[in-house]
Amino acid sequence: MMGVRVRVEGVVQGVGFRPFVHGLATRLGLAGRVGNDAHGVFVELEGGRDQIGEFLVRLECDAPPLASIERVTVTSTPHVTRAGGRFRIVESDPSGTSRTLVSPDIATCADCLAELADPADRRYRYPFVNCVNCGPRLTIVRAMPYDRPLTTMAGFEMCGDCRAEFHDPADRRFHAQPICCPACGPTLSLMGVAGDPLTGAAEVLRAGGVLAVKGIGGYHLAVLASDESAAAELRRRKRRADKPFAVMVADLDEARRLCEVDGVDAIGAALLADRARPIVLLPRLPEAAVAGAVAPGERYLGLMLPYTPLHHLLLTAVGAPIVLTSGNGSDEPIAYDDRDALDRLGGIADAFLTHDRPIHLRADDSVVRPFRGRGMILRRSRGHAPRPFTLPYEAPRHILGCGAELKSTFCLGKGRHAFVSPHIGDLENYETLRSYVEGIEHFAALFGVRPEVVAYDPHPEYLSTKHALDLPDVEVTAVQHHHAHIASCLADNGEHGRVIGVAFDGLGYGLDGTLWGGEFLLADLVSFERAGHLAPVPMPGGSAAIRQPWRMAAAYLEGDGAALDVARRHERWWASVNSLMRGAPVTSSAGRLFDAVAALLGVRDTITYEGQAAIELERLADPAERAAYPAAVSDDLVVAGADLVRAAAADLVAGVEPAVISARFHNGVSEVVVRCCHVLRDATGLATVALSGGVFQNVLLLGRTVERLSGAGFRVLTHAGVPANDGGISLGQVAVAAARDRLRSYGDQSSAGFS
Ligand SMILES: [Zn+2]
Ligand SMILES: [Zn+2]
Repeated sequence: MMGVRVRVEGVVQGVGFRPFVHGLATRLGLAGRVGNDAHGVFVELEGGRDQIGEFLVRLECDAPPLASIERVTVTSTPHVTRAGGRFRIVESDPSGTSRTLVSPDIATCADCLAELADPADRRYRYPFVNCVNCGPRLTIVRAMPYDRPLTTMAGFEMCGDCRAEFHDPADRRFHAQPICCPACGPTLSLMGVAGDPLTGAAEVLRAGGVLAVKGIGGYHLAVLASDESAAAELRRRKRRADKPFAVMVADLDEARRLCEVDGVDAIGAALLADRARPIVLLPRLPEAAVAGAVAPGERYLGLMLPYTPLHHLLLTAVGAPIVLTSGNGSDEPIAYDDRDALDRLGGIADAFLTHDRPIHLRADDSVVRPFRGRGMILRRSRGHAPRPFTLPYEAPRHILGCGAELKSTFCLGKGRHAFVSPHIGDLENYETLRSYVEGIEHFAALFGVRPEVVAYDPHPEYLSTKHALDLPDVEVTAVQHHHAHIASCLADNGEHGRVIGVAFDGLGYGLDGTLWGGEFLLADLVSFERAGHLAPVPMPGGSAAIRQPWRMAAAYLEGDGAALDVARRHERWWASVNSLMRGAPVTSSAGRLFDAVAALLGVRDTITYEGQAAIELERLADPAERAAYPAAVSDDLVVAGADLVRAAAADLVAGVEPAVISARFHNGVSEVVVRCCHVLRDATGLATVALSGGVFQNVLLLGRTVERLSGAGFRVLTHAGVPANDGGISLGQVAVAAARDRLRSYGDQSSAGFS
């Protein structure tokens, strides 16, 4: 027999930690007690050495889903309990509880699913069943502290049964703020239709209709995934040309009938079943029964599993996979307010499956892609936000990072925590901008942040920049776009540099006023120098060249190659490109280089969403091809991207397959990146490389580059928790602002730490 005291720190209050400890200790036959105090959770234990050992292992491995343990301290004591062999939960000292962090919204847990399916349970088939381990969180919180009256559940008074569970420390609904049941909670309805809403909704889908479904962070639009005309009609009504729709499947078996779930990375199933329930991009099976209009021409499908009880019930009622795409028209943010949804989706949906629990905060689905045995996040939103990142440095003052323009997010920094907002979208219309400004205020109130330092992107035209510069009584700090990318990769990995940073993206405002995007930086969190870049190329027609990749092909070939198909398709224009390029803005963007090759190969002349040409070029590539096009690198590390385009054009003329050309181009880019890293390592001694920017969401390019760099002895940092694209910029800005503020407040004394 022995006794120990255990202290657990982190996000451990309000997440079912005490009932979990109670159950674990009781199962192991341990005596003692557990309670909350100002530091987190304390446990006192008495029992056999083996049982205590197992307790300590399971405490961390089996912790409740919403808990996030930062530290466990164990001390031994001779006599701890006078519990008479029992284990109990003790009342908290109200003054001793710490501020509870709001957790992300979490998919329905196994216990709640069992109740949902049990005819004897009082929550049988109840679409809003939840407990302390699952259910809505961030999206229903109106204000802090996180208590029911300050959530959108305030209007639902608990019945006697729910109240009893809520107050029973041994119950898994102990202090579950959104607790409810058929007697006291929200009600499902199929708007304007009598009878069972789920049966009615399933009929709408089976008849080829478009169904709006109210979810956790907003409305979705659904059609049967196998129904070609319904999917095409949804595309037409949404005015969405090509961007793929996500598909929800009932379970992993159904996922395996549509996609290669257990492929090379072998983590497809784990990513799908993750409690954040993201959309997971997986290789589509040729025989998958999914309409062509769901993801036109795609080799990948975005799949997700049900994450609310309503989804589970709907999928069962329909008995087949459904398209589940954000409820919005093209370029608008997802609708979440009931009246607004009716207004905006009324012309798109044939019926509304809805309920009376309001959504307070909009949150789209998150998107991940398997990469080298783990998930690489492409869009971070529902299920992840607002779980904080830990900054490499403590921020002396509160910070706001305003993000960029496309795929925008904002981030609040406080102490060592950085809270990144859910994905907001492109800040180009009033609706999105309003959502951005309101979101900042809401987050600031939730996390008790009053920004004194505001970090922003120096691009003069970004609405986020204008927002930053309009804020009264704050200190502003400009963080160059690609420095922010590398900083976000550092923060994503808990590092502070100095590193070789490779930032490849669409476009970002450079220090010289031109548009950058193929950058080699030497960077830490405070500052950077531009050590190399792709050779700048004119963008004929300015921003038109972004929407029309064929213009970049002409620019890279300087009007040569009149016999190429792409030149023939734009004959008159092609001939005069050299004069059009005079005075055009120049860019070193890697994204535009990918665009040029995509247009050259006939993949895409014009795009309907950002990054489309590069995404389709990646999809085209033959992964078995290992040859690489060469590109010259000058002494001052300027890379001749045009060499790659010209080599591709020569192969095309020689009759080489476009799939092979695409692969050789990808390999060529990765080879020249590695060559530049070699040069920089020789010059500086730095051997860590951070890869960031939206171009590195290309798994073929990223994989080949990581392989080559690792093979050459580099340590490589890539993104995992925050997107490599502009969705990660706000975190990078906060990390930089925190490091600069720390330098400012501690002066020379600690500046050595940055060199
Ligand atoms: Zn649950
Ligand atoms: Zn109830």
